[in-house]
Amino acid sequence: MDLEKIDDAISQRVQAMKNRLEGLRKSDLYYYNLPVQELKGGARVIVNGNEMGMYASYSYLGLVGHPRINAAAIAAIERFGSGTHGVRTLAGSLTIHKELEETIAEFKGTEAAITYSSGYATNLSVISSLVGRGDYVISDKLNHASIVDGCLMSGAKFLRFRHNDMEALEDRLKQVPNGAAKLVVSDAVFSMDGDIIDFPKTVELCRKYNAWLMIDEAHSLGVLGNTGRGIEEHFGMKDVIDIKMGTLSKTIPSVGGYIAGKFDLIDYLRHVSRAYIFSAALPPAQAAAANAAFKVILDEPWRIEKLTTNTKQFIGGLQERGFDTMLTETAIVPVLCGSDEVAFAMTGTAHQSGVFVLPVVSPAVPPGLARLRATVTAAHEPDEIDYAMNVIEEAGRQVDLI
Ligand SMILES: *Cc1c(COP(=O)(O)O)cnc(C)c1O
Repeated sequence: MDLEKIDDAISQRVQAMKNRLEGLRKSDLYYYNLPVQELKGGARVIVNGNEMGMYASYSYLGLVGHPRINAAAIAAIERFGSGTHGVRTLAGSLTIHKELEETIAEFKGTEAAITYSSGYATNLSVISSLVGRGDYVISDKLNHASIVDGCLMSGAKFLRFRHNDMEALEDRLKQVPNGAAKLVVSDAVFSMDGDIIDFPKTVELCRKYNAWLMIDEAHSLGVLGNTGRGIEEHFGMKDVIDIKMGTLSKTIPSVGGYIAGKFDLIDYLRHVSRAYIFSAALPPAQAAAANAAFKVILDEPWRIEKLTTNTKQFIGGLQERGFDTMLTETAIVPVLCGSDEVAFAMTGTAHQSGVFVLPVVSPAVPPGLARLRATVTAAHEPDEIDYAMNVIEEAGRQVDLI
């Protein structure tokens, strides 16, 4: 199709994006989709031929490239090959899938667990398998796109509440007519801001109003709690989440998503959720890598301690240098820039000095709240973090941010 000749809504959308991207690329301000050429051990990578400190990674415990996890993946390929025989329900299930699901259930303290081929697919499929027309789904305004998409796809009445505002949540719960099914969904740690949900109050409200509670632990698994078990451990609460969702692509250096919960719930999902029934099983190497990673987390508890120390150093140091890091308490550290231009300019300076951070701009965050979204991991050393903070400080001075 000749895009120049037609002028319908589709071509206008494509053209508008083309113009925006061309503008950024011409000014050398396009930083997305940059391929990492090589891991250099620890938290260093080679990008565009330059060695850089990696401050945009979700590998919070520094497990990407861990020898024991790599070995498990290689052994699984040798035993089962590189793919499966199809979907889990038919010929795609392998013993390694069963082992992984048992490992997850044990780690999360539940009766059972189910895995999917991505966290995104998990949220989409699970939310829309649990609620539908006539039901209500209630979601924090800053929840991840995969939650929003799952809520929309479900066809349930979709109510959103002001970010982490428990009065607003209660108002929403009161709005639901008597007897209607209700599901409350929230991130545990918010992916753009790094702040933590008011979990005890959320649990209390769900109980008071008989709502099901689903929590997405993409950024809290391996990050929160003394043994990395997540949000419940962080608040000293036990098994108070009905639907414990997480991803195998962040702290766990693989790919996939999971739900942990009661056996009957998991069995229901296994026979209803379409991403499980109609999409191929996790590849053997990825299932084995994920399974090994949970064991490494338990066997190497120093990683969680080191992440906590590094997080304190990074947030504290950036604040001392005069930056606004918003409400973060975790390894996701927003450095508020304001305008998109400031965020792009600071990213450029950081990259030139060997610090790999990325800008997050509208529409991913509201206009005026553009930021560098830096992450710190257990693989960073204190002197590397100091260096990165000094570079970000210099970048901030150049644009008069601090
Ligand atoms: C990354 C992320 C997902 C999606 O997980 P993938 O496994 O990458 O598809 C879901 N929820 C949140 C909060 C995330 O940050």
